[in-house]
Amino acid sequence: MGAIYTSAAFREYARAQVAYADILLTKHSESALSLCRCGRLHPCDEHRHWLEMRTHFRQFLVDEQYSNEVQQPHPPNPTTNDLSTPDDLA
Ligand SMILES: [Zn+2]
Repeated sequence: MGAIYTSAAFREYARAQVAYADILLTKHSESALSLCRCGRLHPCDEHRHWLEMRTHFRQFLVDEQYSNEVQQPHPPNPTTNDLSTPDDLA
């Protein structure tokens, strides 16, 4: 069955792989002219590998924007300390 590609667990996995690939691609980005940060020629094998992995797993996340998000993230609580500096008392 091809249902694995639509399961939430697989999406979580794919999302994690994309995030991990992002980290590795940052580590293996170009640091100088044609040089990777690992010291090899850019793009090095690692860079190319993780670029492929990220492209591969991203395709499973593309249709996510069309699905109904049940859980919406809560907005962060704004701090309300704005009333603490009355400046015109003189
Ligand atoms: Zn590298």
